Amino acid sequence: MHSPEFLSAASRLTVDLTALADNWRAMNERSDKARAAAVLKADAYGIGIAHAARTLYAAGARDFFVATVEEGVELRPLVPDGRIYILAGLWPGNEQLFFDNDLVPIVNSEEQLAVFMAALAERGDHPCVLHVDTGMNRLGLSVEEAIALAHDPARPASFSPVLVMSHLACGDDPKHPMNLYQLQRFREVTAAFEGVPASLANSGGVCLGEDYHFDLTRPGIAVYGGEAMSGAVNPMKPVVTAEARILQVRTVPSGETASYGASVRFTRDSRIATVAIGYADGYHRSVSGGGVTLRQAMPSGAFGFLNGRKVPHVGRVTMDLSLFDVTDLPEKAVRAGDYIELFGRNVAIDDVARAGGTIGYELLTSLGSRYCRAYVGGA
Ligand SMILES: *Cc1c(COP(=O)(O)O)cnc(C)c1O
Repeated sequence: MHSPEFLSAASRLTVDLTALADNWRAMNERSDKARAAAVLKADAYGIGIAHAARTLYAAGARDFFVATVEEGVELRPLVPDGRIYILAGLWPGNEQLFFDNDLVPIVNSEEQLAVFMAALAERGDHPCVLHVDTGMNRLGLSVEEAIALAHDPARPASFSPVLVMSHLACGDDPKHPMNLYQLQRFREVTAAFEGVPASLANSGGVCLGEDYHFDLTRPGIAVYGGEAMSGAVNPMKPVVTAEARILQVRTVPSGETASYGASVRFTRDSRIATVAIGYADGYHRSVSGGGVTLRQAMPSGAFGFLNGRKVPHVGRVTMDLSLFDVTDLPEKAVRAGDYIELFGRNVAIDDVARAGGTIGYELLTSLGSRYCRAYVGGA
């Protein structure tokens, strides 16, 4: 079933499109009366926009969010009758791409509003989304600006957003007071734009409950199998499994060290598997754990999974190679040429991310280009 390239690759990714579709359906159901969009920015969180778009369209998604207009242009032929929203909005010089490719700009500021209104005057009617900042202080009109706009008698009739949206700063933390604060501020906006559909929730927001759902939800990370809620059991199905080949298994006598900086010293005779994965593949150097000065505060590094067991990463991750301690596995259970799982079905991507002081989003979006990719299943 797999290609010869996949079966012999130094490192390889399996992307489970059935799990992707199932995760989207689960988030769509959890959105109650709201519709779930699909968030496909950054090459669909690193998994590949073409496969993700076709799969999520087949699963029923019709609303798609990407970051840039270029991502929108790439997405357009993949979802011919889907509505594509561009998070970065528009600026002078790229307006025509929105009109030519039927892309909906998200208007994030008074300046972008002026650019959009000028484009409308010149080119005729076009939908837009109004983004209101309710506390993130990143993008969006202020609540006051948005309410003033809603009540502005000079507001041209041609300006009628198809959606008002805002974004949660702390949606992954159900106890955080920011959630309720932002919800209340957003309700002031939706009251001013009565009758206009509204959207507030990312993955975390979907899990916060029905109050946060409005008309359209925007789950991203949960659909890709990552943790939407910190500190809770992740109910989503893993989508991406990363594996790499063991190039050599060596015996290291007790007392010796390994890898750059000689940061690990073995206290027993050890068997070490040298694996074809490194930071150039997005297996970040920081997952080495306490051996790297950056992470003195957290001594334990990442784990891999091999022959039914978790095996610890040891020493420093280098550009192309990493070391795993396989001493606790039976000698015959580990051979050069075997594949070790770095994350996926048996090792949660968020656990590896945590070992590196980061989040699953960053591991996914930095997956390198050396992996041989296999897409399995579908909607
Ligand atoms: C990326 C993004 C999302 C998706 O967020 P997740 O935390 O991945 O669910 C939703 N809305 C906006 C505005 C985003 O930028």
